[in-house]
Amino acid sequence: MRCQPHYGHQVYIWLKNVQICLLCDEQTDTGFPICTACETELPWLIDQCERCALPLPMTGLTCAQCTRRAPAFNEVIAAWLYDFPIDALVTRFKHQAKWPLGRLMAELLGQSLQHRFEEGLARPDIMIPVPLGRKRLRQRGYNQAAMLANWLGRQLQLPVNERLIDRVKETPAQQGLDARARKRNLREAFVLVEPAGVRGKHVALIDDVLTTGSTADTIARLLVEAGANRVDVYCLARTPKPEG
Ligand SMILES: [Zn+2]
Ligand SMILES: [Zn+2]
Repeated sequence: MRCQPHYGHQVYIWLKNVQICLLCDEQTDTGFPICTACETELPWLIDQCERCALPLPMTGLTCAQCTRRAPAFNEVIAAWLYDFPIDALVTRFKHQAKWPLGRLMAELLGQSLQHRFEEGLARPDIMIPVPLGRKRLRQRGYNQAAMLANWLGRQLQLPVNERLIDRVKETPAQQGLDARARKRNLREAFVLVEPAGVRGKHVALIDDVLTTGSTADTIARLLVEAGANRVDVYCLARTPKPEG
């Protein structure tokens, strides 16, 4: 008769810190559920606009759009290009509730942020996730940006506040609107609930993917108008400039 449950296998895994790579199912001893080969092959974002992280052919440049009109945020830190397999991983995290994938990407983004802090990037006072509208939040059941923010907050020991900004309007119908109408549409979508909470603060806005940057720009503008002294954006991935 056996009185003890048979945990031998689990103990072995724990002792050796062996995990299974979430991308290729091979065993890995990196301490994370991703193997070195898969991690190396991720589309790491290297050459980018110094302001909005738009992928560019070489480093140290500012893109045409940011040169024409500087965004309200200071800097975007994105770990990857929104390309294979990150696009698939983000989709599975965001729309199929695959938490371990989100957790892994947050952990790797957290590592690169930590690295940047050590190199002199200013640490924010507070992190704020880009909010979802209430209706979408009810449908999806969770806000992926808030999950990322909370994982990053724990890893980097930074406070997170999910309630400072409210999304009072969904903004689904951006297609077909001209630039000015889009901007107005977006501006009316967000409300700063507690302006005193950001006054004099360095804020990091957290999102999963930065596409046009206009949502981040809109929220950053609200924060700056309320007295935030600096707004950065941390996100998993940045899309390239749309064709045409
Ligand atoms: Zn792998
Ligand atoms: Zn730019």
